[in-house]
Amino acid sequence: MFSSIRARLTFWYAGVLTCTLLLLSLVIYWIVKRSVMARTDAGLVELADSFLATLDAELSDATPANDVAAAARQSMLEHHYPGHSFAVLSGGRLLVSSEELPATAREARHTEPNPTISTETLESCVAPAKSPEDPFRSLRGRRGGVRCYVRGFTAARTPCQLVILASLHPESELFARLRTTLGWLVPFTILLAAAGGYFLARKNLAPVADMTARADRIGESTLHDRLTVQNPGDELGRLASTFNRLLDRLDLAFERQRRFIADASHELRTPLAILQGESEVALSNPTRSPDEYRESLTVLQHEARRLARIVEDMFTLSRADAGQYPVDRRPLYLDELIAECAHSVRTLAAAKSITVSVQSGGELPLSGDESLLTRMLLNLLDNAIKYTPAGGKINVASSSTPAGAQITVADNGSGIPREFHSRIFERFFRADQARTRGNSAGGAGLGLSIAKWIAEAHQGTLTLTRSDATGTLFTVNLPATTSTTSQRG
Ligand code: ADP
Repeated sequence: MFSSIRARLTFWYAGVLTCTLLLLSLVIYWIVKRSVMARTDAGLVELADSFLATLDAELSDATPANDVAAAARQSMLEHHYPGHSFAVLSGGRLLVSSEELPATAREARHTEPNPTISTETLESCVAPAKSPEDPFRSLRGRRGGVRCYVRGFTAARTPCQLVILASLHPESELFARLRTTLGWLVPFTILLAAAGGYFLARKNLAPVADMTARADRIGESTLHDRLTVQNPGDELGRLASTFNRLLDRLDLAFERQRRFIADASHELRTPLAILQGESEVALSNPTRSPDEYRESLTVLQHEARRLARIVEDMFTLSRADAGQYPVDRRPLYLDELIAECAHSVRTLAAAKSITVSVQSGGELPLSGDESLLTRMLLNLLDNAIKYTPAGGKINVASSSTPAGAQITVADNGSGIPREFHSRIFERFFRADQARTRGNSAGGAGLGLSIAKWIAEAHQGTLTLTRSDATGTLFTVNLPATTSTTSQRG
């Protein structure tokens, strides 16, 4: 029943409002009742004062001077207020009551009938009035019941009690009116508020239904679709914007993935085609010489190695993307690592009459993954050798910086055309596709992507600092996140 947010919101809203209004109504009713009764009681006290003052005056004027009943009767005649009855008791016995007055005097001008004075009424009023602090009693009865007030006094040396009964009919009518008003006002307000709340919730949550429907329609092929942002300032607008940004990232990731797969299949096609072609040629002619077979097998081996390298690079990058490539950081000396890498490429460089020099800036302790850092340096050096003509020079320099260590790999090759500077770290990108594709010197365009990822996996950077007709310079900055304490062996 309450599965939708708007129904739940309305329910809670109406529930809280009902409790609040009920509590408020009870408090209002209680306050009004108390103040009205206090006013009635104050009126009774005033009436008793005035009655007794008149009684005193009558006693002092009257003949005989000790006829309390006559004086009280006279006082009652002077105090015939609507809805009020009087009784004077002496020694627990009724001396005189307003019942004895002529009917015209009692009720002639009264719209509100006076309460009836009966023995039971008097007993109920007088008997419990033991404490002088509580001289009031409310008696249930017809037309709202009565309020009685008992006051002791002494007249002609006789202890007497004055009992005044006030009809509670006007008060009970007022209370009934208040109850009726609150009785319809509270449910009406709740209904109105619930309907308004439901309408507002419906109106404000309408974009959610729209967003749900649209989000449902977005699939792999429609990832470029976006949710409508109706009000960018409110919570739902911000949610839609966040969702759209998530879609942007997903779209980009999907696009990158699609391009990666397309580029990868494209790259793999060339060596595979060579493998297929070469093996078909070798097998088609049964009269081939052993030298010819050897030549074919060498081509097959070369392409198989190339294939293995591309697959290995792709695997590295896909594991890196998934955050699954382990980076095993250990204390190491970067200057030693550089010297080893330079040493291992010297044979390759010598084949092209290229000299590789190392310029060391002293000890460079660092915490890093040795095999990954070696791979990064070899990729840079391998590129430098590949793209530097015979007789060229390569220089690897290292130095310590306030943040950690810096390595530069410089060559005096022909450089990278300026328009490709921003793209050389893209996967499968090669500045000279025609020159390198299918050429034994050219790679698949993954070397720099991997080198950059390795630098970043060490919280460092790899940048192309300069590349022009005089050569190319790559710079690696690695922060010394954990300085090593190991001693050089
Ligand atoms: P590849 O496997 O093709 O070398 P990389 O990602 O290592 O792929 O390099 C991308 C491209 O950047 C290369 O194809 C080449 O055009 C260019 N490049 C990289 N290093 C150098 C360099 N030292 N000198 C000139 N061009 C370079």
